[in-house]
Amino acid sequence: MAVLITKECIGCGACEPVCPFGAIRMQDGQAEIGEACTQCGACIDTCPVGAIKREEEAKQVTMDKTQYKDVWVYIEIAEGKPRNVGLELLGEGRKLADAMGQKLAAVIIGNNVEGVAKEAFAAGSDQVYLVEAPELARYSTDGYTATFTDLINTYKPSVILLGATNDGRDLGPRVACRVGTGLTADCTGLGIDEATGLIGWTRPAFGGNIMATILCPEHRPQMGTIRPSVFKRPIPDYTKTGEIIRVGSKVKAEDIRTKIIEVVKVSTASCNLEEAEIIVSGGRGMCSPENFSLIEDLADALGGAVGASRAAVDAGWKAHMHQVGQTGKTVGPKIYFACGISGAIQHMAGMSSSDIIIAINKDPEAPIFKVADYGIVGDVLEVLPLLTEEFRKIKA
Ligand code: FAD
Repeated sequence: MAVLITKECIGCGACEPVCPFGAIRMQDGQAEIGEACTQCGACIDTCPVGAIKREEEAKQVTMDKTQYKDVWVYIEIAEGKPRNVGLELLGEGRKLADAMGQKLAAVIIGNNVEGVAKEAFAAGSDQVYLVEAPELARYSTDGYTATFTDLINTYKPSVILLGATNDGRDLGPRVACRVGTGLTADCTGLGIDEATGLIGWTRPAFGGNIMATILCPEHRPQMGTIRPSVFKRPIPDYTKTGEIIRVGSKVKAEDIRTKIIEVVKVSTASCNLEEAEIIVSGGRGMCSPENFSLIEDLADALGGAVGASRAAVDAGWKAHMHQVGQTGKTVGPKIYFACGISGAIQHMAGMSSSDIIIAINKDPEAPIFKVADYGIVGDVLEVLPLLTEEFRKIKA
């Protein structure tokens, strides 16, 4: 990225001696950068009036932020249906858009995915930007990055929310870089900063020991990825409709450098925690990896997913993809079973928005009972088989 001298230069000459390559010289009372410049940036901080900038920064500073308006939500699609996280973000995006007096739009990219627009309107969207093409039938880094970047450059949204999923974490930062803005990754909270009117993006920082709220004052759009299940999916209202803005795709098959040969599903229903309505989680109180089969049995009887505390994951009893909590997944099922889990604050950060919490713990003083709707004081190794048996009887 080139280094430029902007018109703010006052010709003081402070930058000239600091260039290690002798690439700066004074000409007609202004600094000039010559061909020897290696873009090391050593001169940037020495300028007393901030007149030396990297090219991308210089572009942004002159950017007219008033051109950017509306809140966009990227709707991720799996097997023709919107993933929950996109709809959850539309619910939260609605609040932000209303507070800012702007429109809420969903971005839908794929092939034969117009049906998803109905779900977006039902979740509160005013508009849908729809890009359909055979080349976009499956997510690809090249195809989706180019498409999303084009949409932003053409329609200039003020705020973009994406799910912190595998695809969202791949797409969001690339697009942010292409349009020269920043991105707050893996947020667990959103709000409007009272002093500036900017979006306040909240996320754990320093290994989860503090919560940081980050603003994006100089660049547009303001972008962030948000963890699934942080927000509740709004109750759909299918009477709502909106405007569909169809945008032609410029992506050609040869632009996509990665070809998907085969899709191998490693994720089974038991580890799809973000979408699960029932989760049965086990902690250190399960005492051994073998005993986790009791957790799996109950989850199976209820058609739920299997979760784990960090202690159980660190012990190697379950894979990290099952971990619930601050450094694991944030979940919000209808029913959450916490079995042999003490209820440390970092665990509760990932599951406290569950509708109903049922805790099984042999210690009646365990903190988990403070947030539980139902508590069973007892040995998990005895209680779990009884519960599974009873639920299987109901199902039969
Ligand atoms: P313990 O705290 O050891 O609790 C075990 C519980 O099982 C006890 O309450 C005990 O009474 C009960 N018990 C024992 N035997 C039985 C039995 N036979 N029947 C019934 N009950 C029994 N933790 C997470 O879970 N997720 C995270 O994402 C996470 N992130 C973290 C991030 C940071 C920065 C830090 C510092 C910590 C994080 N932790 C996280 C760790 C967290 O602080 C706790 O250490 C962890 O949650 C404890 O797991 P646990 O409840 O399984 O184990």
